[in-house]
Amino acid sequence: MSNDNFMNEDLVKTKVTYPILFKRLWPYARREKTLLFLAIFAVFGGALVARMVPALIGYAIDHGVKGKDYQLFTYVAFAYLGLEILRTCFSFSNSLLFQLFGNRMLFHLREDLMNHVQRLPLQFFNKTPTGRIVTRLTNDVASLGELFTEGVITVFTQFVVICSVVIALALISWKLTLISLVMAPLFIWASFYLSNKIRTILHEQKRKLSVINAFLAENLNGIKVVQLYNRVQRNRDRFSNLSTSYRDTNMRSIYAYALMQPIMNLFNAVTITSALYFGGLMSAENSIAIGSLIAFLMNIQDFIPPLREILEKYQQFQNSLTSAERIFTLMDEHKEHELENLSSPKSVRGEIEIRDLNFRYEESLPLVLKNVNLHFRPGESIALVGRTGSGKSTFISLLQRFYDAPEKTVYIDGLAIENIAREEIRHHVGVVQQDNFIFRGTIRNNIGLGDPRVSEEQIKAACEKTGYMGLLNRTGRDLNSPVDERGANLSVGERQLIAFARILAFNPDILILDEATANIDSESEHIIQEATREITKGRTSIIIAHRLSTIEQCDRIVVLNQGNVAEVGTHQELMAAKGMYYQFASAGEKSPLIANPESAETTESKMEVAE
Ligand code: ATP
Ligand code: MG
Repeated sequence: MSNDNFMNEDLVKTKVTYPILFKRLWPYARREKTLLFLAIFAVFGGALVARMVPALIGYAIDHGVKGKDYQLFTYVAFAYLGLEILRTCFSFSNSLLFQLFGNRMLFHLREDLMNHVQRLPLQFFNKTPTGRIVTRLTNDVASLGELFTEGVITVFTQFVVICSVVIALALISWKLTLISLVMAPLFIWASFYLSNKIRTILHEQKRKLSVINAFLAENLNGIKVVQLYNRVQRNRDRFSNLSTSYRDTNMRSIYAYALMQPIMNLFNAVTITSALYFGGLMSAENSIAIGSLIAFLMNIQDFIPPLREILEKYQQFQNSLTSAERIFTLMDEHKEHELENLSSPKSVRGEIEIRDLNFRYEESLPLVLKNVNLHFRPGESIALVGRTGSGKSTFISLLQRFYDAPEKTVYIDGLAIENIAREEIRHHVGVVQQDNFIFRGTIRNNIGLGDPRVSEEQIKAACEKTGYMGLLNRTGRDLNSPVDERGANLSVGERQLIAFARILAFNPDILILDEATANIDSESEHIIQEATREITKGRTSIIIAHRLSTIEQCDRIVVLNQGNVAEVGTHQELMAAKGMYYQFASAGEKSPLIANPESAETTESKMEVAE
């Protein structure tokens, strides 16, 4: 994938609207309904109590001061204290309940998303940089969380506050309310306009950050290639470009934010001035009591701050909509296609039949496998040979259902492979790859993978059979010895042995082996040779073989040439036929028929380096 592609994705303006957002989040919100309703209750309670304070003060002035009833102040003081305590309680429960609610909702969402992502077809992972998926699951979910805990909650709470203020004002004097707020629509329009501007900038900011993230993830994962091919300088330049452009966007957003403040202040000044001026006039005419005017002024001061908060959150809100859209897009990615009524054979004899198989990765791409017809008997060991790119790995990916072969072309034990669930297939078909993934932990964990079905005895037996135990003993280690990330502290041969032991411990019915071509010392080679013989014993095995010694050891040999089956037969038969295989075998290890070790499919060579 190119960087442009995913920049484009991030550039797309969000199609998610608020109704869509609420509709899609509702299933998660519904699971925490009680919390939600309690929180909403707290918001209304808080707003009501807050409006009672100015009313109380106004009352004290009109009756206490003017009526010279100083006893009243004692009551008012206690009432005031009571109201403030109540307000604090409401505000505390409001934020606590909403936070709880938001967090729980996100928890459900994240779990759902992770479950979904794990079931996506490999094709999706080929096309999507890992960095981007990680961002979806972490950053985007987090910003959706902010949208909830900050955005929705604040907007809702403050909106209720504004409504309560307007009601309180109108109850005191609707005339004065109209006069004071006559300019409000203009200011509100101006601030939303500016807010939209800010939003566009923030959108760009986020997009740029995501490009930086993916760039970093990709290049740090491929640091070996970066250093190997002297890309350090070029990457540094590119990073510096990305970083500068990100900084400039940040500056623009800072300017826009700075402008927001004066607009709000002006608005505040205009409302309060008109309330004071016209309120004063009305008071002089005795059409409003002084206490009520003071209550009015107190109330109107509460009008602007919530509006300001709404505006602030509105941007965040909009920004998070993009996150929401990305999350929803990810959720809408189609899972691996599965038929209904799948069969689940308990054990598999290991008969494999391929009938008229044609396969291409995508509609637009050429055929990778062409008219393949093969039949492997149970227990047979097959060597798969062919030039690089001839379709060997593709063939075995189909057997594992990593990609879907056309229906009724691949059969295991006479059962079309699409009728067997993927998990089931992967349980029966075990694979040792060229480049085995080694996890950080201990040797034991790497063999048993923490699967409870694999007992300690099985692990030990597997190590014995592959000869790994002997190697461990000789080097003074045991199953508890630590393994570094990606097996950095193990030799290539050892990593291969761990993979063999893993396969033996899991004991699959069909074994696929992508033979290691890396240069290993002759002792390791010997051990691996032995181990290979051991693990292929008694089960159908398909070995993508590069070494003549391994190939000869197999029952039959399949030669692939540009997706076609060129030759099938035993070593003797094919030698006698004097075809492609004969040329290879007589040329020895250096034959062009066989993938050379350097071009072998290792993670590094497959990885695309971002330009
Ligand atoms: P090697 O010996 O180098 O491992 P191979 O025989 O295993 O080669 P495959 O990996 O099966 O070759 O590739 C066969 C063809 O399919 C190649 O032309 C390759 O470009 C193409 N191909 C492989 N994987 C994909 C994919 N995920 N999407 C599209 N095309 C692919
Ligand atoms: Mg391959």
